[in-house]
Formats: sequence, structure tokens, C-alpha cells
Amino acid sequence: MNALHSSLKRAQSDGLARIRDDFPILKLRVNGRPLVFLDNAASSQMPQPVIDRWVRYQTSQHANIHRAVHHLSEVATAEYEGARKKLAAFINAREEREVIFTSGTTDAINLVAHGYGRRFIGAGDEIVLTTLEHHSNIVPWQMVAEEKGATIRVVPVNDRGELIFEEYLRLLGPRTKLVGVGHVSNALGTVNPVREMIQAAHEKGVPVLVDGAQAVPHMKLDVQALDCDFYAFSGHKMFGPTGIGVLYGKAEWLEKMQPYKGGGDMILSVTFEKTTYNVPPHKFEAGTPPIAAAITLGAAADYLAGVGFDLIHAHETDLLDYATDQVNRLPDVRIIGTAEKKAAVLSFVVDGVHPHDVGTLLNEEGVAIRTGHHCAQPVMQRFGIPATSRASFAFYNTHAEVDALVAGIKRVQKVFR
Ligand code: PMP
Repeated sequence: MNALHSSLKRAQSDGLARIRDDFPILKLRVNGRPLVFLDNAASSQMPQPVIDRWVRYQTSQHANIHRAVHHLSEVATAEYEGARKKLAAFINAREEREVIFTSGTTDAINLVAHGYGRRFIGAGDEIVLTTLEHHSNIVPWQMVAEEKGATIRVVPVNDRGELIFEEYLRLLGPRTKLVGVGHVSNALGTVNPVREMIQAAHEKGVPVLVDGAQAVPHMKLDVQALDCDFYAFSGHKMFGPTGIGVLYGKAEWLEKMQPYKGGGDMILSVTFEKTTYNVPPHKFEAGTPPIAAAITLGAAADYLAGVGFDLIHAHETDLLDYATDQVNRLPDVRIIGTAEKKAAVLSFVVDGVHPHDVGTLLNEEGVAIRTGHHCAQPVMQRFGIPATSRASFAFYNTHAEVDALVAGIKRVQKVFR
């Protein structure tokens, strides 16, 4: 009965994975085996409708935007601003001008570090980050702290990889000028209690930047409900192109912030004596932006919304539970990151085998995972390991692919026995 129930559930869950027919790259064979792509946290694959959008733009709509009256420029401008509108709706921003196109999460966080940090953080002030942060939400703040004489305070995690909330509350003090927190940890998959963290920070008048790179592909985002001050994410992790990302910022902050980059389009007037800056979002989009990528990102947002986050969540939860259970059954394999709330990431170490060897041997079987410190060295240090092997899932992955991963790990263990 139980076996029947679980195989029915599995078939139901994999029904969604028929969607994988939309993804041409998933039909590839690698080393003579069907590709099993489990490196989605690093970058996910693009479905045909999103690829088609790129081609349509390049073949019939391309010109530079904002600065000409000819037909193509007007079309490209309308499509680019249309993409902004789509992204604003996708994250439920109050206003379109709160969506700034950047080159990715890293660029978005640097924009906040420069535009907010260098203006509003001073000597003796404090920036609260967490042990779970990706380097891109650490290094820009270290640069600001070094320049301004500010201090970085770090929220610790417990042995499961969950933030210790009481410690977070303790770190919020009168000198705290910003909280920076990842919505979902790329190294462990922990889903952080960002809503509660934002509420606690706001009670002390502290703005919060959320690094949403690993959340946006997996859960419905509502920036108004979260009430975050800034939210950063990347196109290439949400089935869109590389070279594009979004910084959401509350209009009241964007108006007060200084621009990050100077150049064309971000000004209202320029003389050698004085330059007047444009209004948000243009103030933060100097030069020719990645027009094709922004428009294609709009199509990726449409695609994701079309699949639906309820389905995505149900399938990915099922997949992660199944993978966790299967990997837990393997002797001498340890899962790193066992938080109660996790999304789409399974990090593990195989006793006696370096993660790079795990990755290399799995690749021989066509299984793509990532190995290393995942640009999150403080997390690795916390768990006393140099690196992990990480399988990360998207809605197009299947239970059979988890089986391929598990079979691959067993082979690794045989080779190294
Ligand atoms: N933050 C997190 C949590 C990430 O996983 C990543 C990418 N691995 C980034 C930031 C940086 O994203 P990007 O390289 O697209 O700027």
C-alpha cells in the first residue's frame, strides 16, 4: 500500500517534468549517457519559448533604446520597458521604477553597497550579515566597511545550517545601518526567515537587503508582503539569460541613493560645471543596457508564472525529500545542511573522497553537479570542511535523475574503496 502510494505520488510529481520537453539542452548526451543536469543553483537552463524571445528580438526588434525616434528604437524601448513592467508584476513591486536592470545579483548588491552603503554608512556603524552569505553579499560590504571604518557583524548558524534567530536579534543595535541576508542559501539550501528578520530590523529602523538569487526560481516572490528594502536576483538562475539581473529597491531609498555608474541615460543634463541625475530607475542604468537579455528575462518570468509556483514547489519538495532520503541511506555519506526549511539544494560529503573526484566521476555518467566551496567559504569553515558536492534541482528534474545521482555516488564509493 505504502509502495503503491509513493509510486503514485512520484508519477504525479514527475508529471510536471514532462515540461522538460521545452528544454532542448536536456536532450543532450554527455559521455554517452543522457545528461542529468543537477547544477541549477549555479545556472539553470532555458526553455524554447524563452530562447525564441531572444531570437525574435534580435531578428525583428533590435536597436538602441531611449534615444531615437525611428521605428526600431521605439519598438525596442517599448519592449525593454515592457520587460520592466513584467518583472515588477512578477515580484509584485508597487511601482515599475522600483525595478532596476543590472547585470546580475552581484551587480545589484554592489549597486546597493555603493549607492546606499557609501552614502549612509559611516565610521563606527555596523552591517549585519549572516554566516550563510554568498561572497557577493560579503565582499561588497567589506569594501564599504573598510572605506568607512564600519564593522561587519555576523549571524551564526546552528548545526543544521539554520540562522540562530536570538543571536540575530542581539546583533541588531543602535549602530546597525543595514542587514544583508540571503533568502535561500546556495551552499546548503536553507530557507531563511526573511519576513521575520525584516520585521525585527524595521522595528529598529534598519533597512534590509535580501539576496534572492536562489529563491526566485523556486517560490512566488512578493516584495510588498516581505517589505524588504532591496531584493537582488539573477536572470540566469531563473531560466533566463546571463548578463541580466534585477535590483528591486523601495522608491524612497532609490531616490535618496547616489548612482553607482556614471554615463549616458542616467543624466538629465550635463555641463562641465554640473550634472543633474535622471530619476530612478534610469539613474542606475548608465550606458546601453543589456536590452535583449532584459526582454528575454521578461519572457522567463512569464514562463515561470505559466508553470506556476504551487506546482514547482510541490514537485521540488517531493524531489528534495526523495533525494535526501536516498542519500541518507548511503553509508559514509553526510548531508551538510539539514534545516527544517530547505529549497532544492543537496550538499553532501562522501567520506574519504574529495568532492572534485565525486564530481569528476559523476560527470563520466553524464551527471552534472557542482563541487567546491560554492562561493560561500564562511559556511564551509563553519562546518569544518573545505568543500562539498552539491546537487541542485529545478522543476524539470525527475526522480529517475535522483536515482542516477545515487547510483553515481555508489560507483564513486566502489572506485575509492
Ligand atoms: N547570491 C547567491 C545566493 C548565489 O547563489 C549567487 C550565484 N551563485 C550569487 C549571489 C551571485 O549571482 P551572480 O553570479 O548571478 O551575480
